[in-house]
Amino acid sequence: MKTRIGLLYGGKSAEHDVSMQTAKAVIQALDLEKFEIYPIYISKEGEWIKGQQLIGGVSNVKELAFTNQQALPQAALTPSLFQASEEGQFDVIFPLLHGPNGEDGTVQGLLEVLNLPYVGNGVLASSAGMDKVIMKNIFAQAGLPQVKYTWFIRSEWEKAKEDAYMKVENDLGYPCFVKPANLGSSVGISKCTNRSELDHAFAEAFQFDRKIIIEEGVTAREIEVAITGNDNPECSVAGEIVPKKDFYDYKAKYEDGDTALIIPAEITVAEYDELNTMGIKAFKALDCSGLIRADFFLTREGKWYINEVNTMPGFTPFSMFPLLWKHTGVEYPQLIEKLVNLAIERHAEKQ
Ligand code: ADP
Ligand code: MG
Ligand code: MG
Repeated sequence: MKTRIGLLYGGKSAEHDVSMQTAKAVIQALDLEKFEIYPIYISKEGEWIKGQQLIGGVSNVKELAFTNQQALPQAALTPSLFQASEEGQFDVIFPLLHGPNGEDGTVQGLLEVLNLPYVGNGVLASSAGMDKVIMKNIFAQAGLPQVKYTWFIRSEWEKAKEDAYMKVENDLGYPCFVKPANLGSSVGISKCTNRSELDHAFAEAFQFDRKIIIEEGVTAREIEVAITGNDNPECSVAGEIVPKKDFYDYKAKYEDGDTALIIPAEITVAEYDELNTMGIKAFKALDCSGLIRADFFLTREGKWYINEVNTMPGFTPFSMFPLLWKHTGVEYPQLIEKLVNLAIERHAEKQ
C-alpha cells in the first residue's frame, strides 16, 4: 500500500514563497509508486485550502476528500483535519513551513493533538529552536561555545532605553547584532557599530517581536552541517556560506543569488570532528527529531561558536540542507523518504 502524505505548505510567515517552491520540488521528487500526495495550502492570510494550488505544472496530486469547501478559515481546519485523521486519510503529514506559525511548534502541537505522525521536530524542539534566547540558554547549559549575548523585552526597553544601551555597550561592545528573538531569514536583523545604529536597530527589531536578542559580533566564516535522525542522529559533510555582503542578510539569502555555497567546506579533519560533535550535541540538547541544519561561526584563530539551529531549514533541491546530504551520498528523493520514515518511526515509538 502507498504511504499517504499530507503536504502542508505556504503559510503565514515571511517565508511563504520559499515554502511554495519547496512543496513543488518535494512533490516532483517523490516516487509515486510508493507515495500518494495530498497538498494542503496555507495562504498568506492564514486560510487553509485543499490541493491544487501549487504554481505551475505539478500533476499527480490527490484532492482531499474531507470537505466540500475550498477555502477554510483557520479555525475551521481543526475539526476537518481531525475528521480526516479519524478516517485514516493520512499516514504522515509533512509540514513544509518555515518561521512563525509553522516551524515554531504551533502546527506541530495541532498535529500532536490529532495524533498524526509528522515529519521533523516535535513541539518542544520546534518552539525552543524558534526563540533564539531560549535556544542559546539551552546551548549554554549544554556547554556549547557561543558569542556573548543579552536580551530585552519591549516594555523593559521603553521604560529605560539608556540602561539597555549601556548594558549592551558594557557587556558586548561594538560591533553587535540586534535580532528579533523569534524569526528567521535574517528579517529585522541589524549590525551596529555605534549608539545611534543601536537605537535604530532596537526599534527595527521590536517591530517584529516583543523580545529581542543582542549578540557580540564576530568576524568569522559561516559553516553549516545537516543532521538527520531520531535517537541516533547523523551528521553530513560541512558546507560554507560566503555572502558577498557584510553579512548574510535577507537580500543575500533570497534576492541577490550571488552567495556562494562551498561544499564540502575547506576545513581540517580535526575541525570537522569538532563540528560534528557540537552539531550532534546541539541536536540532543534541544531534543530534536527528524532534521536540523546547525549553523556555526569559525574564527581565523580556529575557534568555533554555534550560531543557531534551524528546525525546518530551506529544503529546495538547491538549499544548503539537501545539498549537504547530496554531497554525503543521499540524493533528494531518498532524503525525503528518509524523513518520512523517521516521522513514522518516531510516532510508533510514542504509542
Ligand atoms: P536567522 O535565523 O534569521 O538566519 P542568524 O542569527 O543566523 O538569523 O543571523 C543571520 C546572519 O547574520 C548570519 O548568517 C550571519 O551572517 C550574521 N550574524 C548573525 N549573528 C552574528 C554575530 N554574532 N556575529 C557575526 N555575524 C552574525
Ligand atoms: Mg534561523
Ligand atoms: Mg541563520
